[in-house]
Amino acid sequence: MADSSTCLFEVVQPSVTITGQTARFPVRRIFCVGRNYAAHTREMGGDPQRDPPFFFSKPADAISESAVLAYPARTTDLHHEVEMVVALGMSLRDKGEDLTPEEADSAIFGYAVGLDLTRRDLQAQAKELGRPWDTAKGFDQSAVISAITPRAQAGDLSAAPISLRVNGMLRQQGNTRDLIWSVNELIMELSTYFRLRPGDLVYTGTPAGVAALQPGDVLEASLGNLAILGLTVASR
Ligand code: MN
Repeated sequence: MADSSTCLFEVVQPSVTITGQTARFPVRRIFCVGRNYAAHTREMGGDPQRDPPFFFSKPADAISESAVLAYPARTTDLHHEVEMVVALGMSLRDKGEDLTPEEADSAIFGYAVGLDLTRRDLQAQAKELGRPWDTAKGFDQSAVISAITPRAQAGDLSAAPISLRVNGMLRQQGNTRDLIWSVNELIMELSTYFRLRPGDLVYTGTPAGVAALQPGDVLEASLGNLAILGLTVASR
């Protein structure tokens, strides 16, 4: 008979589809940046001149490519945040302070569009009480992602339109040229805190227009002309 020291479960590596390849992208860590577009910083009550962007993270198995989102428990204020996602394919040195923009850039494997889903009510409570954001940001399916397009196919995304439609109506619209910290700066800054490795994903922040989702909503996110993400919110 099995006892608690016998492993009866299988190891599941969270992963994401790669456009045009049968291999999948194995997810190691999910890093997110908060307040990386000035207009969104202002809508959240911050001052983009005074408050620099900051990082938080989600567990790797919060990643979701499912076309259906289960409306999460313990919230009545589930918010969408459409974001460009950068997938890293190379290790970066420990000494992040010395990283050059070229080295940061060379670590990029590809790009996707994603949603940093947020239980805004729990986040507001956590902010008020000075508590961690895990229940607000790190729940199941909270890191929605499209397929990852390798950079050679993706082309230059330094000035790409990014948008989210909900039930056909434009909810969020921005351009990656308005990132406060550019992709290379994000990688350089992150690598001063963490040793970045292949499989790491960076959610680069959301433009203005975040709002609540309702059961039955149909979402379409896009980044430039490369990544499209479709998602339906299931009933509670
Ligand atoms: Mn976000």
